[in-house]
Amino acid sequence: MLPRSESNKIKEPVRYLLTVGLIALQVVTVAAILIASRASTEKVLLDHMKQIMTSVVTESIDRTEEFLAPAEKAAHLTRNLAKHDVVSAGDTGAMELYFFEQLRVNPQFAGIYFGFSNGAFVYVKHDNGGYLSKLISIDGDKRMTEFIRRDASFKVLSRWLDPDDTYDPRSRPWFRRVRLTRKLIWTDPYVFYTSRLPGVTTAAPVFGKSGKITGVIGVDIEITDISRFLGGLRIGKNGSAFIFDREGNLVAFPDMDKLIKPATSGARELRLARVSEIEDPVVRAAYEKLGDIKTISREQFSFVSFQAGGAKHNAIFAPFGAANHWSWIIAVHAPEDDFLGPIRRNQRRNLLLAIAVGIAACILAIPLSFSVTRPLRALHERANRDELTGLPNRRYLLEIASKKIAGAVRNRSPVAVAMLDLDNFKLVNDTCGHGTGDEVLRGVAERLSGALREGDIIGRYGGEEFAIILPDTGLSMAREIAERLRASIAASPLETSLRPVGITASIGIVSLVPVHTDVPALLDAADKALLQAKRAGRNCVRVSDISEEPGAVQGGNEHRHYG
Ligand code: GH3
Ligand code: MG
Ligand code: MG
Repeated sequence: MLPRSESNKIKEPVRYLLTVGLIALQVVTVAAILIASRASTEKVLLDHMKQIMTSVVTESIDRTEEFLAPAEKAAHLTRNLAKHDVVSAGDTGAMELYFFEQLRVNPQFAGIYFGFSNGAFVYVKHDNGGYLSKLISIDGDKRMTEFIRRDASFKVLSRWLDPDDTYDPRSRPWFRRVRLTRKLIWTDPYVFYTSRLPGVTTAAPVFGKSGKITGVIGVDIEITDISRFLGGLRIGKNGSAFIFDREGNLVAFPDMDKLIKPATSGARELRLARVSEIEDPVVRAAYEKLGDIKTISREQFSFVSFQAGGAKHNAIFAPFGAANHWSWIIAVHAPEDDFLGPIRRNQRRNLLLAIAVGIAACILAIPLSFSVTRPLRALHERANRDELTGLPNRRYLLEIASKKIAGAVRNRSPVAVAMLDLDNFKLVNDTCGHGTGDEVLRGVAERLSGALREGDIIGRYGGEEFAIILPDTGLSMAREIAERLRASIAASPLETSLRPVGITASIGIVSLVPVHTDVPALLDAADKALLQAKRAGRNCVRVSDISEEPGAVQGGNEHRHYG
């Protein structure tokens, strides 16, 4: 019989190609879309993140400037008032009242003061919800220090003298620097001694009519509000900002507890923490990444990326503009995941979905391709098979035969061909009818198939003629098989719906080691032997005279041709 694998070989590539092609197309499409969309969305989001950080920087710088600007205005105003003798050494009461007004409208002012060039001093500061004034007057070589405590509306609560006070404004750094530069100055941020809060001082000279400095006006501004403002910023989910000066000292930090540290020397003295001291791995990594802070230009923003705590962060460093008195730098930093995390998680979900869809498509595609190719396969099958007996038809038999014989040529193995014809079959048709003749043909096909070995191939060659290919079969074995086939038919009548019909067959065989694939010659040789069997009286087996016994080929007959 024809082995199933023979026919499978033909339809397999179609199904395989269809399935693999479908899946490959789908995977390539999905992957291309995902990769393209990922690249473009990440770029958009990173740009968006830079924009957010840049706007945080700009806003923070603006806010800080707005916050500090009144101090400068107050200093300028005082200078003008002094010029016009409104505020003068002669009227400390008017000056005190003026300072009180300034403190009232500018809550960020911690204190405001005026040091005269003769050592006199007027100072008003916030004190427990009210105000405390310190007034030093100089009259020749006599000095007097008076303190006045006032309530929120500047009503006097108590006043006292301090004869032991030795404070001299002229010895203070702000006074000395102004006298030296003759310009408005800003100090670096430091921690105010009395309030223990961080701040900056601005001081400006007041000139007399002769152009000589008559005194210096100073304003202390608390800058904790800048930290508070930074603490209130929302930069992504975990982003943050801080401000530091070019010496690496913090100016503002969202966590105010970390902003101030005790100065190493004095017990009470406090100082601002250095950025490098902050126990926050992200802040430190950002600061280290920035490297030499002096390389930051005064105009440009620097973007950096760095690793901290196992995550990638982005930071922007921006200097306060050249127009400012403060050469401070603001840093805004945020983990990249805050901005890219959701889209990356979404992409991962999409990828998993694509894989799931791919697998589902595989599962669907296989039976689909089966059903698509089924009619094709059926058509193929029908084209190869004889309708009556189900055996390979002549065309298909020749196709298989040429493959088998090619194999025999390659391996130099013998192959046998048998040609079988039913005896006096015309008589069956004539006596029992064509239908019974068909039944007999089917029965014969069944018996022949049953008598063959695995690997032998039988086909219907013509009307009541069958051809059989016997691979790896020498002459004696071929004769044996042919005899078995003949006997299987002659053994007993075949059952038909009409009545049992006895029938015999004549067989011609040929067996040799072929030297090339000449299928028609082989079949022709078997056919001639069949004719001899008919002439010999039918129901017998005859061997073609070109057959050779096994081993004969060893005698140097490789080049022998047949037919
Ligand atoms: P011989 O022993 O010489 O072979 O005699 P024979 O009668 O078998 O030879 P012949 O070739 O004269 O007749 C063959 C007959 O087989 C002729 C035809 O009617 C019959 N036949 C061919 N194909 C079919 C078929 O498919 N079905 C039926 N029922 N008969 C068929
Ligand atoms: Mg015939
Ligand atoms: Mg016949």
